[in-house]
Amino acid sequence: MIFAGIVKTSLIDYPGKIATVLFTPGCNFNCFFCHNRRLIEDIDEILDMTEIEEFLLKRQGLIDGVVITGGEPTLHSDLIPYFIKLKSMGYFTKLDSNGSNPEVILKCIESNAVDYYAIDYKAPSSKYYAIARGDSSFQKVQETINILITNHQLFEVRTTVIPQLSLPDLIQMSEELPVVPKYVLNPYKVPINYLECDQEQINVPPYSEKQIAEFAETLKLYQPNVVLLF
Ligand code: SF4
Repeated sequence: MIFAGIVKTSLIDYPGKIATVLFTPGCNFNCFFCHNRRLIEDIDEILDMTEIEEFLLKRQGLIDGVVITGGEPTLHSDLIPYFIKLKSMGYFTKLDSNGSNPEVILKCIESNAVDYYAIDYKAPSSKYYAIARGDSSFQKVQETINILITNHQLFEVRTTVIPQLSLPDLIQMSEELPVVPKYVLNPYKVPINYLECDQEQINVPPYSEKQIAEFAETLKLYQPNVVLLF
């Protein structure tokens, strides 16, 4: 397994748990609002695995869980064995994914490798590719979410409320999914690094927290388990 970033102690990345967060390099999407552009573009900066493993051994009993995020972790073929290793060390495990690899999610479930999943849901089906670009596919994300529901997994779905999503878009998104156990709305924050060609999209003013809270009230008609992350 390779990692390009670490947050040693986080109280916000694994619901109800103190966690270490590990970032895998590379992604098969190319969202203009990506906050991890360094991770998806500069995949040569790799952390020393021995140091990570020594840290995790030392923190056993002090940290509850380990989150693997990215980039897109499911692109890494040794992800599942690594999760199993983390579980054998006594850690709860969480996977953050853009939902593009339902077959990997199914294998994670079959291996009992992951305790909690967070799946990104970027846009309504008609705009999915325009917003997430790369190899993005609404159908794959939908399939991932259906697999998690069918297999009774603990998970949440997350949408960053970028200014390019209108309330009708958000309603369409809420209708396109089955009811999920937790639907998290994240406010959009302008990324520090972005592609020059995306300048125009980056410059669109974000919604206020009040506007997003108002959207949430409407979305609860379709997704009763909406949660605001602010
Ligand atoms: S899926 Fe996540 S890591 Fe990949 S480009 Fe989009 S925001 Fe960045």
